[in-house]
Amino acid sequence: MKNPGILRRAQNDGMDLVQSFPERREMRGGRTRLRGYRAAGQAAMLILWISYGCGDAAMDLMAARERMVLDQLERRGISDRRVLEAMRAVARDRFLAPEFAAHAYDDAPLPIGSAQTISQPYMVALICEVAALAGSERVLEIGTGSGYQTAVLARLCARVYSVETIAGLHQRARAILARQNIANVELRLDDGSAGWPDQGPFDAIVVTAAMPGIPRPLPDQLAPTGRLVAPIGEDELQTLVRIGRRAGAWQEDYFGECRFVKMTGKHGFRD
Ligand code: SAH
Repeated sequence: MKNPGILRRAQNDGMDLVQSFPERREMRGGRTRLRGYRAAGQAAMLILWISYGCGDAAMDLMAARERMVLDQLERRGISDRRVLEAMRAVARDRFLAPEFAAHAYDDAPLPIGSAQTISQPYMVALICEVAALAGSERVLEIGTGSGYQTAVLARLCARVYSVETIAGLHQRARAILARQNIANVELRLDDGSAGWPDQGPFDAIVVTAAMPGIPRPLPDQLAPTGRLVAPIGEDELQTLVRIGRRAGAWQEDYFGECRFVKMTGKHGFRD
């Protein structure tokens, strides 16, 4: 593996989430003690107000999301601050049917209908980190699925172009993204295995379904400094691969094994 840094486990095991009030720690005279208690009281009121406003279930999901970022992403070595921020901001539960919402921050893919899955949070974060987005990019995503990764990408780049081949999922993702006022996204219903040539070149292409190989039309749609991130391999197990040009020559980097649903269509798997 050429870039073990991405998969390196972070050294922050045992990080403490509980913060003490600094005023309480430093209290000396009566005035300081009073101020400390007042601050604690105000914080407690704020928590009560937030929990009342959001409801218990929403608070549980928010806490679970925060834990997911810490336990599944940071501890496994995701370190791009923008990616961590985007994963903190996008509510995965909103991309799931109500019966799965309570599991939204589990360390696993989950069903979204039509025999497809929403990706595991770590995989979404890893793909985004490997794509190395700074904010100004145009990104092609192949395999919209639930729209979750689309929403995360939308926070990390200028515009996302996302193709999905299943009509029901395409429409569902469109509705969910619109409900959240995510506007820098173009969705298309089509076989995306040959990309979206009319909209290229792209600064990054991310593929969220397994491909047997990298079809020629995809690198052709990359900008000169563009990169393509895709799960490549067998139908049951793939390697996350990034390709891009360095000093004019194509280079490949590998980011470990992964398991995605199969890409269909012209350049996908034949059943
Ligand atoms: N990142 C998505 C994962 C979607 S699963 C999420 O988080 O929800 C992969 C998706 O790729 C499925 O929705 C599947 O229908 C879609 N797909 C498979 N073959 C495709 C093709 N040829 N063109 C476009 N989408 C395709």
